[in-house]
Amino acid sequence: MAEFNIALIPGDGIGPEIIAGAVTVLDAIEKKFGHKFNYTEVDMGGVAIDKHGTSLPQETIDKCLESDSVLLGAVGGPKWDNVPASIRPETGLLGIRKALGLYSNLRPAILKPQLKDASPLKDRIIGNGLNVMVVRELTGGIYFGEKRRAEDNTWASDLEKYSAEEVERIARVAFESAMLRNKKLTSVDKANVLESSRFWRETVEKVSKDYPQVELTHMYVDNAAMQLALRPSQFDVIVTSNLFGDILSDLSSAISGSIGMLPSASLGATKRGMYEPIHGSAPDIAGMDMANPIATIESAAMMLEMSFGLVDEAKAIANAVDKVLDKGYRTGDIMSEGMKKVGTKEMAKLISEEI
Ligand code: NAD
Repeated sequence: MAEFNIALIPGDGIGPEIIAGAVTVLDAIEKKFGHKFNYTEVDMGGVAIDKHGTSLPQETIDKCLESDSVLLGAVGGPKWDNVPASIRPETGLLGIRKALGLYSNLRPAILKPQLKDASPLKDRIIGNGLNVMVVRELTGGIYFGEKRRAEDNTWASDLEKYSAEEVERIARVAFESAMLRNKKLTSVDKANVLESSRFWRETVEKVSKDYPQVELTHMYVDNAAMQLALRPSQFDVIVTSNLFGDILSDLSSAISGSIGMLPSASLGATKRGMYEPIHGSAPDIAGMDMANPIATIESAAMMLEMSFGLVDEAKAIANAVDKVLDKGYRTGDIMSEGMKKVGTKEMAKLISEEI
């Protein structure tokens, strides 16, 4: 029996519905394994702008810092598209990652055999399924580098800058991940053009000396994008910078089918992580009991495994999701002929019953 404190950030749009779905499944885990999960719900995103005048209230940061881990739905929506940049929902997201020191983002892009038809790639490319882990640096690089604009508005610039420490720590996360998988790591950069990329490459090479079992290769980002679409099965773990990782992780998600299926973990130097689906707040289907809760449920499973060390419990969730899919239940986004269509609540209930 173990006890954990979890901060819940439902956020906006479908956020509250998918978080409720994940809690239904965590309830089943509590019962089956005799654990205790204590929840604290906090505001972030548009809902926080409405209530507190900022997308990331200090209280939210404090409560997250006091928790063992954070489970996030999604933030943002058309209602807040025109608020000042300093309080935008996305600013809140960058702010909480920084405040929690979450410098790595792990996105497994997995195509389950039951959902092979959901991939836009041809069967001959994706035939054997897909299982790629993209490790993206999350708190450095051009997103956080110096931003300038000429007073007369004739130029603007953003700075890509990485310290050795920043590259080393993300490289270690990636090598550790590769060690748990197929021991193949591809480091993606643009070293033929960018000095920061040449530095990235040298630093990753240095870290690789500590992981002789892992086969390390380097690839330019343009080629990596092409290879992901042409022969995704060659990849095991990919490590890359904030900007390249943003793009490649979306691409790897897209080739594995519905974004409603894919989880993510953001980790730092402590056990505390932030776990969230890769999709956004889907305002077009919010409040309609149509959202696929599986990405959030799988994110909760990653939290159990990576932050709490509850490996069997995480497996129980993965197995339950597989069984429900095997039985033909589908939310609208992954629906295909002959399957049984269910809503958000029903999908979460079916998975928890399976547990
Ligand atoms: P989105 O991911 O919210 O939606 C894209 C499409 O996918 C929509 O058609 C939506 O209905 C569908 N979709 C998304 N999640 C789904 C699910 N679980 N089940 C079924 N269908 C699902 O992306 P968007 O429309 O570009 O953005 C909407 C809002 O979300 C914006 O305000 C954006 O800034 C925000 N956003 C937030 C995050 C985050 O909180 N991490 C990430 C991306 C976008």
